[in-house]
Amino acid sequence: MNGNHNFTQLVRSRAARTPDREALIVLPEYEGRAQPEVVTYRALDEGARRLAGWLQDRGAAGERVLIVHSDRRLFAISFLACLYAGALAVPVPPPDGRGNLEARLAGIVKDAAPLLALADGAGAPDVSRLLARHGHGHIPCLAAEVVPASRAWQEPDLPGDTVAFLQYTSGSTREPRGVVVTHDNLLANQRAISRVLHTLPGARLGGWLPFHHDMGLIGQLLHPLWLGGSSVLLSPEAFVRRPVRWLEAIGQHHVTVSGAPDFAYDLCVRRVTDEQLATLDLSGWETAVSGGEPVRPATLRAFAERFAPAGLRPEVLTPCYGLAEATLLASGAPAGTERRELTADAAALETHELRAPAEGAPRRLLTDCGEPADGELLIVDPATRKPLPDGRIGEIWLSGDSVARGYWRRPAETAAAFNGTTAAGRGGYLRTGDLGIREDGRLYVTGRLKDMIVVAGRNLYPQDLETTVQRLSALFGACTAFVVPGEPERVVVVQELRAGSRYDIDLAALTSSIGAALTEEYDVRAGAVLLVRPGTVRRTTSGKVERAAMRRQFLQGELRPLHQQIEPEVQQL
Ligand code: ATP
Ligand code: MG
Repeated sequence: MNGNHNFTQLVRSRAARTPDREALIVLPEYEGRAQPEVVTYRALDEGARRLAGWLQDRGAAGERVLIVHSDRRLFAISFLACLYAGALAVPVPPPDGRGNLEARLAGIVKDAAPLLALADGAGAPDVSRLLARHGHGHIPCLAAEVVPASRAWQEPDLPGDTVAFLQYTSGSTREPRGVVVTHDNLLANQRAISRVLHTLPGARLGGWLPFHHDMGLIGQLLHPLWLGGSSVLLSPEAFVRRPVRWLEAIGQHHVTVSGAPDFAYDLCVRRVTDEQLATLDLSGWETAVSGGEPVRPATLRAFAERFAPAGLRPEVLTPCYGLAEATLLASGAPAGTERRELTADAAALETHELRAPAEGAPRRLLTDCGEPADGELLIVDPATRKPLPDGRIGEIWLSGDSVARGYWRRPAETAAAFNGTTAAGRGGYLRTGDLGIREDGRLYVTGRLKDMIVVAGRNLYPQDLETTVQRLSALFGACTAFVVPGEPERVVVVQELRAGSRYDIDLAALTSSIGAALTEEYDVRAGAVLLVRPGTVRRTTSGKVERAAMRRQFLQGELRPLHQQIEPEVQQL
């Protein structure tokens, strides 16, 4: 991999050296007799060059190009074509008819101001209409499979600090912002992933993660290319329809490295039947990354237990921490590393301290997310900006070659997030907005600053409350907890019933049990508890619960609960 100064050269040298090797193995959307579509390095390179020539003709070098594909092969070609042409790729999810996503896409288009959009032939008319509806009718949308003839591609000079793409954050806490990722960032993080996870040249990776999100793009599509290996690809929709397909793909196609957020492991535990389990072979799965959202020790244990009969080895489960602002991976450890689990006293955690719980005292389990992947990692008191010693909770600050350049055209937000300066005056740190503890070199992520529920001087993590609530009933699906204003502030819980639940159950009793559990376990009085229909709790396109959006919907009275208990003061908000 030496001698490649940008990602374009890297892919080109792979195509020159191993043209016939399978780069992508795209699995059919529906099972049946359809064969996987194989894309060799030669085909990828030829496709990217053809499209890059056309992009250059259109003057796209240095401009943003929106990439809106469902088709995984076309996504890869369009994305690489942008890199080949020196254009800035802006990967986004294809519109799905939902207003939330449309609003998000419109926000991204306004922010990125792309020169043009590339889409699947089947999806291009929808994208064009969406652009027109939001006042961007002048932005042309091209079907990437019908590239018009143009002059041949000319390799541009791309120094390492050239911007490769804009990674729009999923918007679970704020409006989407475009993280500016350079070729240097991309290469540095690829090296870090390989160093930390011990991924091998030529390895087969794969999964179902969406490509418009950092974990799918950097981890699942680009990392295998960087390794000169192959990527076995399933769509997110196919996974959600039938989660077992992910695990089947791993077994049948000899995938050794595959990852997903916690919710996906949980979904497999709940949705894979005994019959399906009996057909699986997970003995070749060497690294099963869990990251992108809090890693629940209970999920890992349940997954390891459930799939042990299929040959899954518990030590392959690999919790990692990462974020788009650091390209992708920020901490981790190779599979097989002895995982520690911190058992923390719950009350001490509320004052940001780590202490072993006394006999019988409420406790929280924290997952070991390994060691810093690239550069320096500090735990900093966000108020005083003083680095904290081991065992204290603070904001995670990062520096190093993987840290991106900033947010696209947002100098104030860039300065705030990307130029953290310690009390002693050391600057240039990325303030992640995440909270964590370091202990014996390992990082334990405890939550996000923005989501913290602060009641009466106590710091509560919404995911802890949510976990407590979800455990109360097998009927409970997604859950979200947040605070609403008041004296004192009140906690609100929105709990979804699982699809297929019957509603002739005692909803009032279920609702009361939620309030009671919060009082008992956290000594917190809920200002409102809502039981809602499946699908009410909003998630980002990468599967994260959108607490801020749920809070907004609650305050605007947009939620239609099946049942609720609400205090009069909260009702009036
Ligand atoms: P937005 O910033 O718009 O809300 P996002 O932060 O959800 O979007 P990403 O950059 O993909 O988009 O997600 C990174 C975030 O995911 C981290 O900042 C962190 O909050 C969370 N996360 C990632 N890995 C872990 C982990 N192992 N444990 C806990 N949280 C994690
Ligand atoms: Mg973020």
